[in-house]
Amino acid sequence: MINDALLVASNDNKPTCKGLFYRCSIHNFIDKSGALVSSTKLRPLKRMSCKGCEKCAGILDTLAEDLSCELPSKLAHGDVVELGVVIDSEDCESGLSDGWHVRAQLVENL
Ligand SMILES: [Zn+2]
Repeated sequence: MINDALLVASNDNKPTCKGLFYRCSIHNFIDKSGALVSSTKLRPLKRMSCKGCEKCAGILDTLAEDLSCELPSKLAHGDVVELGVVIDSEDCESGLSDGWHVRAQLVENL
């Protein structure tokens, strides 16, 4: 009985997912060959982000498999984005999603 009560209490105190946040840094430079290079880097904001849950693990697994991420059309140096998964297709018989990709959405109010 006591163990059951503790289990319920610990589930109630389970922290909710805060999401995965990244800060954009854009650098333009000329490389050794003289080419103009524009690099966009998304650095993880660890203190602001979820410490780890099933949902975030799924997002990171999808990113690791695909290595592509849909970025906002206007992304500036210093912007903060939140990663999420977008469902592209569902199996018409089972109703389960069978295609998805990662999207970075701009966080307007910090
Ligand atoms: Zn999470």
